[in-house]
Formats: sequence, structure tokens, C-alpha cells
Amino acid sequence: MPGLNRISDQNISIEIRKTPFTCMRCGACCREIEPGSNLVLVSPAEVRVIMAATSLTFDEIAEPYPDFIHEGKRRYTLGWAIRRDGNRCKFLGEHGCLIYQSRPWICRTYPFMIDNENLMVSPCSGIGTGTDVMDPEIVNRFVQDLIDRQQAEKAEEEHIAEVLTREQIPAGKLVVIDGEGMRIMNG
Ligand code: SF4
Repeated sequence: MPGLNRISDQNISIEIRKTPFTCMRCGACCREIEPGSNLVLVSPAEVRVIMAATSLTFDEIAEPYPDFIHEGKRRYTLGWAIRRDGNRCKFLGEHGCLIYQSRPWICRTYPFMIDNENLMVSPCSGIGTGTDVMDPEIVNRFVQDLIDRQQAEKAEEEHIAEVLTREQIPAGKLVVIDGEGMRIMNG
């Protein structure tokens, strides 16, 4: 993507190979392990993919990301999180993810993410337990997914910045700003 500073495909591949990883299917990344942990941040585009795969509405899938910005009487957040049932992602079923083919980028690329030009690895019991990532096909899939995720997140950030410059956020309301616009949630 033009104008996007990012780690090269080859370097992502090299870094992933240094981190042997096999998903243990423990579902720990789909649950709140400590207060606020493992919330799945999603863009409206990702919610729409899940809507197409389920019969659920936008609001049944996602809720405002609870990291609110307070500016005087204005209160807003910059995205959405997948809803939970108790401490579990609402899509974590008895035998794993119920929307596996439509799961968001965060889930698709866990435990890896690109932060600026570095590959970050989140805590995960599957790290160091296997040799899956040594399989070139698995490494290539992670590399492509990480690149696609970075581009999607960058595009969403740019759209949010545009929305913030054109919208007047009302006081006294709970507002979500996302790449598609401004949504007033209540009151
Ligand atoms: S969408 Fe699926 S993979 Fe992602 S947190 Fe929920 S259950 Fe886990």
C-alpha cells in the first residue's frame, strides 16, 4: 500500500519462524483472563462479514469499545468490540469458534501483530509448544494475514481521522466514531 511504512514480508516471515507456535485450542484468547483483557476490537467492515455469516444484527454482534475518550461533556470511543457472554466471546462455542471462517483479523493473526515495523507476540500457551510455524504454508498464511490486517487497520484509522475532522461530536451522548461515520448510542 503506498505511503504505508511496514515491516517487509520477508522480515515478518523470519521473525515468525523464531517463535514456534501451535494453537492449543484452549480458547484463552477468546476469554477475559484479567479485567479488560482479550477484548476483540472490530471494524464495521468486520462486523458486516460476521453479519453475513450469521443472522445477527450489528448490535447483537458488537458493542462500543469501552475505551472512552472524555473531552468536557463529550464522551466517545473509536471502534467496536465483539460482545461477550460473561467472560467469553459470544462466539466461543463448546468446540471452538462458531464463526471461524469469518473471524476478525485479531483472531486470525493471534498471537502475532505488527506494531509499526516490529512483530509483536502476545502471551499464549501455544508459543514454544510446536513447530507449526515452521511449515512454510502456515508461515505464509500468517504473513499475508498480518499484512492484510495492517492495511485494513491503517485504512480504518484514516477513515476515522476524516470522520473526526468533519463531525461535531455532541455533548452528553455516548458516541462511537468509526470508519463509516458517527453513531450516537443513547440519550
Ligand atoms: S471471534 Fe472466534 S476466535 Fe475470535 S475471540 Fe471470538 S471465539 Fe475467539
